[in-house]
Amino acid sequence: MAQSSRSVTVGGVRIGGGAPITVQSMTSTDTRDVDATVSQIRQIEDAGADLVRVAVPDEEAAQALSRIKSQMSVPLIADIHFNYRLAVAAAEQGVDKLRLNPGNLSRPEQVEAVVAAAGERAIPIRIGVNAGSVPEDARERHKGRGDVQEQVAAAMVDTALGHVELLEGWGFSDIVVSLKAFDLRSTWLANRLFRKERDYPLHLGITEAGLPPAGIARSAIGIAMLLKEGIGDTIRVSLTGDPVLQVSVGREILSALELGGAGITLVTCPTCGRCELDLAGLARSVEGQLRPIDRDLRREGRSLRVAVMGCVVNGPGEAREADVGIAGGASRGVVFVGGKPIATVPEGELVGALVDAVNDYLKGE
Ligand code: SF4
Repeated sequence: MAQSSRSVTVGGVRIGGGAPITVQSMTSTDTRDVDATVSQIRQIEDAGADLVRVAVPDEEAAQALSRIKSQMSVPLIADIHFNYRLAVAAAEQGVDKLRLNPGNLSRPEQVEAVVAAAGERAIPIRIGVNAGSVPEDARERHKGRGDVQEQVAAAMVDTALGHVELLEGWGFSDIVVSLKAFDLRSTWLANRLFRKERDYPLHLGITEAGLPPAGIARSAIGIAMLLKEGIGDTIRVSLTGDPVLQVSVGREILSALELGGAGITLVTCPTCGRCELDLAGLARSVEGQLRPIDRDLRREGRSLRVAVMGCVVNGPGEAREADVGIAGGASRGVVFVGGKPIATVPEGELVGALVDAVNDYLKGE
């Protein structure tokens, strides 16, 4: 059961308040390069992102935001540090959400200017607190209370609450909060602690999780620990490298936890000595061919399970739970629907036959 949070709306996408959990990512391009950034955003959108964030390091990047936004379909989030003028400029450029740390702004008037610019346009602000950026005095306050991770978590929550109160002081409550650490227990403790204090939507992630596959495992476990308790409203998988992979991993986390409208879940066998074809290649090809259908299903909040199995001996049986699937053999394979074989086709036609079977299945639903 989701632990209740209020909801905020980011460019038409609801976060919190029982809305489906969203997946987001951040571009790695130079935001000033509009073409490169839009091109990467489109790849991120195709992978199933619900929201995309871009870094805004300077005025030129801020001034590029409206051109970027006009060429994308999901809401745009501007990530800003230290310079309140960039946050105001981003709001004026029409972004859908700001990510910043009010604690990084030096004067209350600066926070007020950002809050006014966001408030006028109904743009939510994410307060993002990372363990590494918690001020020393917040750490000091919790020294000696519990173990180190408990101290870090309490200091993170203190910091976030301080920032929240700063915004609330200006009458602003369109807030999302994130509390991220590299170590899983601090992240877990901090988010649980914050949820007891406030009902703002929580953005989950494990910061600097690392390279795949280590970063994938770390992120998946850390995010799932909280989602399983009903804590968390939007997720971002922070892997070093391709942001498209971050979205795919985010989607897989939600799919594995069976959390709402997951689109296509692909079941593939690990292969063994019975497998007589290139199953990994076949599965990749299926994944690529089904991507547009997956995207449509996710938008409609529907799910479909597709199996790609290595052999006809155990394949259909092992994938009985699948809606549609294929089981390989020597130079041919069997297409099955609901665990029952419906056709035998040559290996080269297997993927096309599977896609046809998926389309037929969906039409008949
Ligand atoms: S489906 Fe066939 S090839 Fe794949 S693991 Fe099972 S027995 Fe092996």
